[in-house]
Amino acid sequence: MQNTAAPNAVPTHCPYCALQCGMNLTPVGGGTVEVSERADFPVNRGALCGKGRTAPQVLAPGARLTSPLVRSRDGALVPAGWDEALDRIAGSLGRTRAEYGADALGVFGGGGLTNEKAYALGKFARVVLGTSQIDYNGRFCMSSAAAAGTRAFGLDRGLPFPLEDIPEAGCVILVGSNPAETMPPSMRYFTALRENGGTLIVVDPRRTRTAEQADLHLAPRPGTDLALALGMLHLVVAEGRVDEAYVEERTSGWEEARAAAMAHWPEYVERITGVAVPELREAVRLFCAPEAAMVLTARGPEQQAKGTDTVGAWINLCLATGRAGRPRSGYGCLTGQGNGQGGREHGQKADQLPGYRKLTDPAARRHVAEVWGVGPDSLPGPGRSAYELLDALGTDIRSLLVMGSNPVVSAPRAAHVEGRLRSLDFLAVCDVVLSETAELADVVLPVTQWAEETGTTTNLEGRVLLRRRALTPPEGVRSDLEVLHGLAGRLGVEKGFPVEPEEVFEELRRASAGGPADYSGIDYRRLAEENGVFWPCPAPPADGGADHGTGTAPHPGTPRLFLDRFATEDGRARFAPVAHRPSAEEPDDAYPVLLTTGRVVAQYQSGAQTRRVAELNAAAPGPFVELHPLLAARLGAAEGDPLAVVSRRGRAVAPARITTGIRPDTVFMPFHWPGEGRANTLTNPALDPVSRMPEFKVCAVRVETVRP
Ligand code: SF4
Repeated sequence: MQNTAAPNAVPTHCPYCALQCGMNLTPVGGGTVEVSERADFPVNRGALCGKGRTAPQVLAPGARLTSPLVRSRDGALVPAGWDEALDRIAGSLGRTRAEYGADALGVFGGGGLTNEKAYALGKFARVVLGTSQIDYNGRFCMSSAAAAGTRAFGLDRGLPFPLEDIPEAGCVILVGSNPAETMPPSMRYFTALRENGGTLIVVDPRRTRTAEQADLHLAPRPGTDLALALGMLHLVVAEGRVDEAYVEERTSGWEEARAAAMAHWPEYVERITGVAVPELREAVRLFCAPEAAMVLTARGPEQQAKGTDTVGAWINLCLATGRAGRPRSGYGCLTGQGNGQGGREHGQKADQLPGYRKLTDPAARRHVAEVWGVGPDSLPGPGRSAYELLDALGTDIRSLLVMGSNPVVSAPRAAHVEGRLRSLDFLAVCDVVLSETAELADVVLPVTQWAEETGTTTNLEGRVLLRRRALTPPEGVRSDLEVLHGLAGRLGVEKGFPVEPEEVFEELRRASAGGPADYSGIDYRRLAEENGVFWPCPAPPADGGADHGTGTAPHPGTPRLFLDRFATEDGRARFAPVAHRPSAEEPDDAYPVLLTTGRVVAQYQSGAQTRRVAELNAAAPGPFVELHPLLAARLGAAEGDPLAVVSRRGRAVAPARITTGIRPDTVFMPFHWPGEGRANTLTNPALDPVSRMPEFKVCAVRVETVRP
């Protein structure tokens, strides 16, 4: 489809979620732009949700920061010049390092940062600061799916196929995902699936807007979808639906996984999950009937202390039925944050180097160190995961640099995390707005936004995209790359931190060459001409890359992974022998109800940006507690009554929203708001042993009416 935008319109992408919808931006004066449809971008074909349509409102000077702020002697944040602000940060980081060592410095990045920024931030932490203590909020987003995908397939890419394959899949099981609210333009793929005669199964404790559109909605108790997947696999075996030839030819570890699943009888699974056996049988029938089928997970199964195994159980179901690495079939993760995918590939994760290389791999260290012009031994080892890093603030970690994240609202056990942030010797925050985390900082740096800078992101399909600058940023604002350049120079590293995004990307290409996420065959020109390129995309041999069967022609990119072989050493996918186990916190007499958390359509993540948009606030003005009429009756609560939700971590208060669309044993709170309705005050930081993902999706609470 052609792009029919105004001649001065700039084709680019939304700043928010991992769908990375295409949009056109036309400068209209007054430092802002008008959003219009960009029909030539295949993922959303012009459709946008309210968040994307209203994103330019955060560009307005009244909604954002336009001057650095420093903490004055009387404790207030006051405007300052850039030199003073950067001097303060560099001076403080330098003093902390001299006194306590490099690992007393922490760096906390964000899944919204472009690939260039994520790459530069990881390099800054390891080369300039010399610290191992870097991680990012994407750990809270997709790390369990990444760990399970790597374990099973040898490689993690959110979706190993493009979204356009969904309508041809025959059946799709969406597990703990609510795209009708989190990424509405993606729903057209599921609508097309059903129009083609395919079926949609939604697994969610709530009857969400997505579940409303499903052919079958399974509503398990929060934290039991691992058992649900095992129960389905049990039935697959019992009903003779295993694709024996595929299992034999393309997988390993089946016998152990089979034995684990056979211990999960349907009746046992019904007792654990609350999903009746006939519903379980129906789900198996729908999933196995067509030639092709998919399982897509999101935060529901992933944000658990057993998230890696839960995703592994769903992957097992795909493998046993021959539904991975085949056309129109497979397992995928619907990544959440705008650059959640690219953000985890290029070095801001505690254990990774650019190109999705492992920091513990000597060959990877040598390769990246050579690109960076340092000795491999100078690179620190893996650091703490996101929650563990935040939990160490004020103790082992004395100073922190935050770039594009708002953990005061988005981290689990948020009141504790807020306390840890307050206990730091020094906190610097780079953000576009004065977020709740920035409010605690000693220095706040105002940075450019998506419409004001060029850079690449990688959407949930693994499609690398070019965001283009459409607007000159206001005076007083600098890019994150300029910030890192300025700090590196002040800390004695004059070279290696360019401010031009394309220059950073060129280095990223070399650093990623030969790695699992190989971007070496991608450049800005291709991204502009081809509307995105799927990784891996190695450079042809003529450009110094390996011959991957394309001779000297440019590699076309890889929309579909694993069709010939998986990325494991022997090319086979690996089953995971997983078994059900309870959540880290089960209900008891003191905390008899389950809390699950999530998002609403009109707000995004911690809400730092979207809470500044009037139209979005009108649609979603504040937190609420969603509960079933039976629970409301037991409490004596009416619609809108203030309810206190209390967990072992704290107490949050928000009005009741009563609906039959939730299980009577469960309450739901969206997590976009700070203050007394902050859902993450309640959530449990129990960590998955592999992915280090906190258990956002289930904890035990009690619910009380609040007397006036
Ligand atoms: Fe932006 Fe996601 Fe909405 Fe698309 S669905 S407009 S990427 S927030």
